[in-house]
Amino acid sequence: MHPTGDWLGPLPTWLLLWLLTLAAVAAFLGRAGRLVRLLRAGAPDARFDHPRERLAGVVAEALGHRRLLATRRYSGLLHLFIFWGFVLLTVGTIEHFLHGLFPGARLPLLDAWGPYRFSQDLFNVLVLVGVGMALYQRLVLRPARLTYNADALLILSLIGALMVTNLLASGARVALHPLAVDSWLPASQAIAGLLRGTPPAWQEALYRVGWWGHVLLVLGFLVYIPYSKHLHIVTAAPNIYLRSLRPKGDLRPIDIEGALERDEPVGVSRIEQLSWKDLLDTYSCTECGRCQAECPASLSGKELSPKQLILDLKEHLLHDETARLLARRPAADATRPSADGHSAPGEPRRALVGAVIHDQVLWDCVTCRACMDACPVFIEHVPKIVDMRRHLVMEASRIPPEWQKLFDNVEASGNPWRFPRHARADWAKGQGIPTLAERPDAEYIFWVGCAGSYDERNIKVSRALARLLDRAGVSYAILGREESCTGDPVRRVGNEYLFQLQAQQNIATLQPYMPRKIVTACPHCFNTLGVEYRAFGGAFEVVHHAQLLDRLVAEGRLRPQERLEATLTYHDPCYLGRYHDIYDPPRRALAAIPGVRLTEMERHRERGFCCGAGGGHAFCEERTGRRINHLRVEQALAARPQRVATACPYCLMMFEDGTRAKDVYEALPVADVAELLEQATRPAEPAASGEAAPRDAATQESER
Ligand code: SF4
Ligand code: SF4
Repeated sequence: MHPTGDWLGPLPTWLLLWLLTLAAVAAFLGRAGRLVRLLRAGAPDARFDHPRERLAGVVAEALGHRRLLATRRYSGLLHLFIFWGFVLLTVGTIEHFLHGLFPGARLPLLDAWGPYRFSQDLFNVLVLVGVGMALYQRLVLRPARLTYNADALLILSLIGALMVTNLLASGARVALHPLAVDSWLPASQAIAGLLRGTPPAWQEALYRVGWWGHVLLVLGFLVYIPYSKHLHIVTAAPNIYLRSLRPKGDLRPIDIEGALERDEPVGVSRIEQLSWKDLLDTYSCTECGRCQAECPASLSGKELSPKQLILDLKEHLLHDETARLLARRPAADATRPSADGHSAPGEPRRALVGAVIHDQVLWDCVTCRACMDACPVFIEHVPKIVDMRRHLVMEASRIPPEWQKLFDNVEASGNPWRFPRHARADWAKGQGIPTLAERPDAEYIFWVGCAGSYDERNIKVSRALARLLDRAGVSYAILGREESCTGDPVRRVGNEYLFQLQAQQNIATLQPYMPRKIVTACPHCFNTLGVEYRAFGGAFEVVHHAQLLDRLVAEGRLRPQERLEATLTYHDPCYLGRYHDIYDPPRRALAAIPGVRLTEMERHRERGFCCGAGGGHAFCEERTGRRINHLRVEQALAARPQRVATACPYCLMMFEDGTRAKDVYEALPVADVAELLEQATRPAEPAASGEAAPRDAATQESER
């Protein structure tokens, strides 16, 4: 039974349905075509490799809602109901339209199949439950991460109305013309039960209201989707499929020489300089705010909100730049912005960097990647931010003075503080630590890093690690004066040119010593040497000291025996944890120390919280909001540990700065994993003379 066998005025209603459907589909396709043409204006990006891996991601993330359910279960569950309801009810909707457009047509297999009918009935109800939960969340719980606008409420109302009209039509049909398969329809049966006893004409009228209401809502939804935030219904799964499969810590390299030869700008200052995938990201944002709720910059009151950044890019693309991009007006039309960050005189459009996205928004990012790991549709915030920073640094020369100093120091001295190059290995003097010249057959190169070489606090970590390697019988040597900054901080700030110079220099230094393994105590060096140098010809096998120490303990080459009676919490460095999924080795190494009781902060492992040093921020003051390291120390204190451990020189510095500021420097000692393990593996003191042997100078130095 369907109402399209009738006439509406001079038109048969099936014809009216055809006209409405064609108009709605045409409107949808027109808008979709425009959106696709805009994508094509973006820069190239190869995203079609590894189809199986990509598809597996879609199954886990889009169909299985893995990320959505991993945290914030309430909103994950409500979305799961709505999503799967939509997927399954789409089959019912197609059936609905087939019946209307081709009166008498049936879907022979599905029509009378009870389980299929049951799923339709069930998911109508589950979607309504999901909509109710979403409304409760928006109207009562009101989490700060969500965007509160009429669009979201309109969409929820539309979805609810779609379900209500569908159930109404189904219930009225069951009341009017019961079928054998109706025993599979509990919700429709319940509605039919309510209608029994009412005049058939009423039931007929309700059926028509439900049927036509559903049809009109579906068509209205189709037209509205590409204009609303619910565009993600269409783009989310493709966006997940097309997600980056590059190593997480590998920023897009720029061919700087090529750009200079072609007189092309470097970095991103116009929306079309972002890749087409970056533009698809903007279409896919669900405005869920999960990125913002994890972002240390947002949570500490900075101007940056990763959600707003994506929405601002979308707004700029769809409102400021659509006409120019679709008219394929040459890039010269969009001149580089003036010094105040706004468009050059006579240029009507707003500059992407400066006006649409303020400089400070870009500088606020600590590149911790928490946003990207939280995003259910795999939007890539960090590469966009770094690309725009590159424009600020290499084109516009709008750089905070501390970072200009950082660049000058790295360029002049190969370290961020301008310590003399020749003093790089001074920390090792008198420690019996060999250089490669002295031990050319060493199995490992101990890459010390700038902090481990020059910073007083981290020199203790370097020495502790050297002693551990000695105790475990690991053959290693340092590069000494040959080592130079890997370029990680300057790259994250946006100085790709200087980074590439550092990369070339370090690769040239390391290559003659290969094949050897590299061990480092710095997660930033670990990432840069192991991942980023590959693009420049440096393929090195790099291990982080937490991994190596864990292995040496497991192999029995390090035997922690001295007790450390303490409840200890471990802080995950972003470039070790989130960027490399190294969560267990440092915890295992710590747990091997007798007496250690590990406790976790609320934000740990994948949800760890940056110390505030990433993205070059170890070398720049935080001028707005609260200091991120103070927040992190408060989070640590909430876990009530007696000590904090970490595995990154910058985390160590930021934590100690934070404990000093919070006046808990003595009460909450902070140490590197290597220091704690070194303490626990000290050889037993000789007792023959009955006197304790004096500790060597290096050991004393590692003690606080
Ligand atoms: S990388 Fe970290 S600081 Fe930057 S936007 Fe993402 S969550 Fe915020
Ligand atoms: S970028 Fe991702 S996490 Fe952030 S609001 Fe959009 S969809 Fe949500």
